[in-house]
Amino acid sequence: MTRAPVRLALIGIGKIARDQHCPALAADQRFQLVATVSRHGRVDGVPAFTDIDSLLRSQYKVDAVSLCTPPNFRYSLAKEALAAGLHVMLEKPPGATLGEVEDLKNRAERAGLTLFATWHSREADCVDEAGTWLAQRTIKSVRITWKEDIRRWHPGQDWILDAGGFGVFDPGINALSILCKMLPEIPILQRATLHIPANRQSPIAAQLEMKMSNGARVDADFDFLQTGPQTWEIEVDTDDGRLLLSEGGRILSIDGIQRHAGEDREYARLYARFAELIATRERDVDVTPLRIVADAFLLGSRVPAAPFEF
Ligand code: NAP
Repeated sequence: MTRAPVRLALIGIGKIARDQHCPALAADQRFQLVATVSRHGRVDGVPAFTDIDSLLRSQYKVDAVSLCTPPNFRYSLAKEALAAGLHVMLEKPPGATLGEVEDLKNRAERAGLTLFATWHSREADCVDEAGTWLAQRTIKSVRITWKEDIRRWHPGQDWILDAGGFGVFDPGINALSILCKMLPEIPILQRATLHIPANRQSPIAAQLEMKMSNGARVDADFDFLQTGPQTWEIEVDTDDGRLLLSEGGRILSIDGIQRHAGEDREYARLYARFAELIATRERDVDVTPLRIVADAFLLGSRVPAAPFEF
């Protein structure tokens, strides 16, 4: 039996909504983009609202929303959408705090609605294959190097360095999301150093040291000031070879030999999963990457860094 498409409203029309959500939705017949909600942004040919209340009061019928605002402006929108009986998909990170996400999960459960906390980097082509390879080996150490240029990828996004904006953990949490899926267990944070520009609230760079139960060390080096080549890599030493996941999970190499280089289908996969979850009214809310970041903010030493301007 063919189902009617899910009537979806996209909320927060900024970079990721335009770059990824709109093309993924246009290519997926299970969804119909029926409205947008954004104070300034809009999508050609789609009815536009500047706040969610106006959408909910309008003639347009909506089954689901996908929230693409920054994390610290997502909770109240998600709560309102769930209260109106809508299924909700959240961009990463799913909220500004663990408490918010737990509350949303409870609300969705009580209402029998889908809540999907997405982690797009987990859908990178080689992540599953890397996890399968690692499952058969003993991990000796892990090194994450996630270094990108904030001015190139996030121009003018002041929110990212505000309180609740995650700073360098905005990209760094993508690496942690892969890590939590790919390793057989979630490593525990031991130490963190957070470099905070004098005129900002969130780190521009961070180093994390984590440990697995067998004593294997997991180090992460996050930097938002990397010019020149950009690096999104996870390297794992095992008792039987070295795995390298590069380009954010798109390329997998074992002992220096490239095994697989996939295409970018991250958002197509996210919407396919959202459609499945809606069909069965299930929830998919994994907060483990967010918990590691929260632990880094709890335990981390603050080091002053030079003031930052875009
Ligand atoms: P963005 O370009 O700044 O867009 C976010 C949009 O949210 C804005 O255009 C804004 O639209 C709306 N918004 C609502 N309240 C806001 C507020 N108080 N302050 C700022 N914007 C507000 O950000 P983005 O890069 O699309 O990132 C959004 C989310 O997607 C983040 O959680 C990020 O981690 C995630 N993400 C981003 C990327 C990427 O490459 N950029 C990749 C994957 C995931 P209006 O002004 O029209 O309301």
